[in-house]
Amino acid sequence: MIPVARPLLGEEEAAAARRAILSGWVTQGPEVEAFEHEWAAMTGAPHACAVSSCTTALHLALLALGVGRDDEVITVSHSFIATANAVRYCGALPVFVDIEPATFNIDPQLIEQAVTPRTKAILCVHQLGMPCDLAAILPVAKKHNLRVIEDAACAIGSEIQWQGEWQRIGRPHADIACFSLHPRKVITTGDGGMITTANTEWDATFRLLRQHGMSVSDKARHQSSKVIFESYPVVGFNYRMTDPQGAMGREQLKRLPGILERRREIAARYTASLSGVTPPHQPAWARSNWQSYCVRLPQGCDQAAFMQKMLEAGVSTRRGVMCSHREAACADLPPARPMPHSEQAQDTGVMLPLYPQMTDAEQDLVISSLHQALNA
Ligand SMILES: *Cc1c(COP(=O)(O)O)cnc(C)c1O
Repeated sequence: MIPVARPLLGEEEAAAARRAILSGWVTQGPEVEAFEHEWAAMTGAPHACAVSSCTTALHLALLALGVGRDDEVITVSHSFIATANAVRYCGALPVFVDIEPATFNIDPQLIEQAVTPRTKAILCVHQLGMPCDLAAILPVAKKHNLRVIEDAACAIGSEIQWQGEWQRIGRPHADIACFSLHPRKVITTGDGGMITTANTEWDATFRLLRQHGMSVSDKARHQSSKVIFESYPVVGFNYRMTDPQGAMGREQLKRLPGILERRREIAARYTASLSGVTPPHQPAWARSNWQSYCVRLPQGCDQAAFMQKMLEAGVSTRRGVMCSHREAACADLPPARPMPHSEQAQDTGVMLPLYPQMTDAEQDLVISSLHQALNA
């Protein structure tokens, strides 16, 4: 069976986790700190703060921007449900807008009509690793004095053309960017997240809130030759990453350039070889990491039946990205605007297998199975 995704892990990650375990320091410590510095260098961000997941990263990002009860945050329904959930953790309301069908990303033209006096922020998503149109989103935010968070869960290593050069997602180009290190993403620490920003105060807030709101870090206490009593000025959380994860992440970062190169090769080969389906669109100013390769089935083709035929041919696939507004978890939100493009993307999208270890022979089987399933 050809899987949809498979993390690239080996002896190096196992040795790194072992090193952390045998050091005797297994919660957030020196490995996490080193991983943060390396992440900042990878993205070009002034600050990178490691946390337990992208979901907790988004929660802290929203809190640092002051998003609270009854505020509104403009975002997409067409995303993994964690995007909307993070807004709801703050007592705020996600206000969904539709996507551009070609890129699966928020339609910048629809943002302005969703702005109300209660709107505090825009939470845009680089869906499936394809950068969203920040150059169009940021001016709308500026006009209405809104903060912008990038849900970059899938976008590790993705790039946009910015001020005449290619830059990695996460500098960040908006106010804060949040990444996921779940195994379904491009590199992994099991679970894990990273928050980047250029704002020193927000970075300090992430560090305070991820560690129970504790005024003194355990590292500072550990290293001090004087007795220190900590205090708890705010209600915080336990959103820490552990040191074996941090050590593992550092090895994953070393693999990232090779992973990106191979993913881009496989995506290009799909685009060149597939017929009968619509391949994903990459704008000229964007370079995806191809966290997922999502094609559109032709009109009239039954999604479930197509996926079943692929499964019977030994090829695992997934349907298009979910729409949060269709889930019972969001049933108590005010009625959503019509979202034809989001719903159509969920119902006609199919994600094909793509992982760096994939062989050409495996990819050929996916391609021939797809053509057979379409013709059946
Ligand atoms: C995976 C994902 C998340 C959640 O990431 P976790 O690290 O699993 O919490 C959030 N947003 C998007 C767009 C995702 O794809």
